[in-house]
Amino acid sequence: MSEVRNVIIIGSGPAGWTAALYAARANLKPLLFSGDPENKFMPPGGQLMMTTEIENYPGFEHGIKGPELMGIMRKQAERFGAETIDELVVAVDLQQYPFQVTATEYPDGQRDYYARTVIICTGARPRMLQVPGEEAWFGKTPGVSSCATCDGWYYRDKEVAVIGGGDSAMEESLFLTHYATRVYVIHRRDQLRASKIMQERAFKNPKIEFVWNTIVTHFNGSEKFEGAHLKNVKTGEEWDYPYDGVFYALGHIPNTDLFKGQLDLDEQGYLITDARLRTKIPGVFAAGDCVDHIYRQAVTAAGMGCMAAIEAERWLAEQ
Ligand code: NDP
Repeated sequence: MSEVRNVIIIGSGPAGWTAALYAARANLKPLLFSGDPENKFMPPGGQLMMTTEIENYPGFEHGIKGPELMGIMRKQAERFGAETIDELVVAVDLQQYPFQVTATEYPDGQRDYYARTVIICTGARPRMLQVPGEEAWFGKTPGVSSCATCDGWYYRDKEVAVIGGGDSAMEESLFLTHYATRVYVIHRRDQLRASKIMQERAFKNPKIEFVWNTIVTHFNGSEKFEGAHLKNVKTGEEWDYPYDGVFYALGHIPNTDLFKGQLDLDEQGYLITDARLRTKIPGVFAAGDCVDHIYRQAVTAAGMGCMAAIEAERWLAEQ
């Protein structure tokens, strides 16, 4: 067995780096796994790597770019002795003690690591449609995006679609009206899930048009993005529309598959902890968007990372 670490942190969003910072400053020499550097859907650094300006993270009066903030958090944690491995954790065994964490070593296969405590900060990812053309066009402009804030500017004087019927869909659509000439909200039902106030704002906006009872079955275009193929789920009617760009607002999925069967998850897959971020296994803590489906903010994730590290430190001291 290789060296047993005091703390292994899985995930490199605001929760992960803050947990690493606090654990490092407590002299616990934490080891943090940052994720798969090749994953364009969920790069190391998490969701903030896919945003541009963050204006609501306290301390940055004039805002800061998401990737820049994550870079600073990493450097700050490493300055105090946190060790980072840029690899993806592919398995955990929380039934054995010390806990076993298996990561993929690029390109040589897998390696096991051991820890007395584990802090899970695996975050959440945007839900995808998983239709043909998605893989080719996701992350391209023009193409398919899950971040209007990041890519909206590209679609000045163009026509875009937003898929979804929740608050995010309303918020993204309203935001996109600052750029696009027309925003189509494509929703699979004829009723929105969004709050009444957001619905009303969207209904009132002359640039927003609703396409009800409709799904996207695939995206068109090989050399150039050519919009989407749609289907009305009530009538069966199908047609193509040459949207210049498409935005997903389909909600989020917590990255918790690794823990199924070992830890308690709620019906949406979020990890269940107590108020002190303890999971049902003593020594295993969880923080950030893999736990929190209510606030989902960088600052709340960071706060939870701090809490989890303090809890881990206390738990180790008690052992
Ligand atoms: P939601 O889960 O609320 O909404 C997701 C939407 O995507 C739903 O309308 C759902 O349809 C649709 N959808 C999901 N999967 C598919 C699919 N495969 N095909 C087609 N449509 C699909 O997520 P949100 O991100 O909108 O919101 C998450 C939370 O954050 C909510 O609590 C929300 O209130 C909150 N929020 C608040 C904001 C605010 O107050 N300003 C802004 C943004 C979010 P269906 O309705 O049929 O299930």
